[in-house]
Amino acid sequence: MKQTGIRILGAGCAGFGAAHHLYEQGIEPIIYEARENYGGHTSTFVYGDGFIFDEGPHISFTKNERIQKLFAESCGGDFKAFPANVNNYWKGHWIKHPAQVNLAGLPQDLIVNCIKDFIHAQNNEFGEITNYHDWLHAAFGPTFGDTFPAEYTKKYHTTEAKNLTTDWLGPRLYQPDMDEVLNGALSKETKDVHYIPNFRYPTEGGFISYLDMFAKRSTLHLDHRVTEIDMDANTLSFANGNTAGFEQLISSIPLPVLIPMIKGAPQEVKDAAALLSCSQALMVNIGLNRADVSDNHWTYFYDEDICFSRLSFPHMFSDRTAPEGCGAIQAEIYFSEKWRPMTGTPEEWTERVIEDLLRVGLVKSRDEIIHKSTIYALWGNVIFDQDRPRCLKIVHDYLKDIELAYCGRYGDWAYIWTDESFLSGERAANMVVKGL
Ligand SMILES: Cc1cc2nc3c(=O)[nH]c(=O)nc-3n(C[C@H](O)[C@H](O)[C@H](O)COP(=O)(O)OP(=O)(O)OC[C@H]3O[C@@H](n4cnc5c(N)ncnc54)[C@H](O)[C@@H]3O)c2cc1C
Repeated sequence: MKQTGIRILGAGCAGFGAAHHLYEQGIEPIIYEARENYGGHTSTFVYGDGFIFDEGPHISFTKNERIQKLFAESCGGDFKAFPANVNNYWKGHWIKHPAQVNLAGLPQDLIVNCIKDFIHAQNNEFGEITNYHDWLHAAFGPTFGDTFPAEYTKKYHTTEAKNLTTDWLGPRLYQPDMDEVLNGALSKETKDVHYIPNFRYPTEGGFISYLDMFAKRSTLHLDHRVTEIDMDANTLSFANGNTAGFEQLISSIPLPVLIPMIKGAPQEVKDAAALLSCSQALMVNIGLNRADVSDNHWTYFYDEDICFSRLSFPHMFSDRTAPEGCGAIQAEIYFSEKWRPMTGTPEEWTERVIEDLLRVGLVKSRDEIIHKSTIYALWGNVIFDQDRPRCLKIVHDYLKDIELAYCGRYGDWAYIWTDESFLSGERAANMVVKGL
């Protein structure tokens, strides 16, 4: 392998995408990673009692055949493919996903108002839409918009829909036609229209198995948290006291952490980076002594008085993630420094999760619980608030000026998935190799 001065910061999907591109070019990929393990958000936690939980529910639903093949190769072809079973919970009702085309069984006045609003929304012009609240009203009408997605937004994005832009939506929210809404209001037999129709998950070892191959092909410096980047002297300093040189950098480090580390970064750029907002995710993991927890792979929860926004059931992805005959639940609770700072301890949230699981009936008694743990992710989902476009432009323009290549969910600062983060890393490496 050819030695160069290219260095990659961060060993998550984006870092490994960059590493893969270098490897393909015959260049030795050298990565510095803050943690003691690789994987970033796709890390997997293996517990001594036989339960395995990822850092947040991770499944691969990429349609990119090249990435599908690479991930398959990484786990030795040992993965399972499923059609996604997804549902929703709202005030005691279990609703097929997406709720907008599966209203049957909900209170009659709610259905009537949803349909009346939907007709009105379809037949009216709304002018320029600049926030998610207005988009929801234009797409679905106020009754559905305010009862379901706007409530979910507060729990998941930690702020009101009116504070969000709409450029993150893509295919995430299904926009039905009138026939679909009416059919779904009259019958529970509806076609499946989720934006994730099917997915893949490694049989063994959790989601991280999709990245093991790239780790083996890279020179990994774990426990190397970058604390300072000197772009003039071309040196990196690390929290462990080490230093290293470089010629070109590819960074997947979150922008609000990266910018203050760059020696001489202008105050205006530091201020812009500080205004970029991201949620933090507390995952509460519960293991049960029975596997018949749910028929679904994951469930969205809309009620304000239920602390989690989503539950997933890892043993439904692979039964090797739990001891034989046992079931697993992972609850996600979101906070953010800017909008909803974390309160309470992980132990207190675990108790609240258990109480809510008992209330919704997924756990029948505390005696069933044989595993409790928590995972805290400081960087969860980028929040597309109104500050983002202006601040991101300032930060990205500066990084382009100093020729520091950025990539990944927290370098691009976008709502992107594992495959997209990997591709983003590949693109950044390609630009660096070509000297762009
Ligand atoms: C709860 C949740 C669920 C998700 N579910 C899915 C899913 O089902 N399917 C899917 O495709 N995607 C999913 N995603 C998205 C997916 O996790 C990301 O797209 C992807 O993992 C991001 O990879 P990345 O390399 O860009 O970032 P990261 O994985 O965060 O990697 C960045 C790396 O940089 C390291 N780092 C940070 N600071 C420093 C420093 N100072 N010095 C050195 N290293 C540093 C970090 O430790 C980390 O390892 C989910 C995300 C979340 C939050």
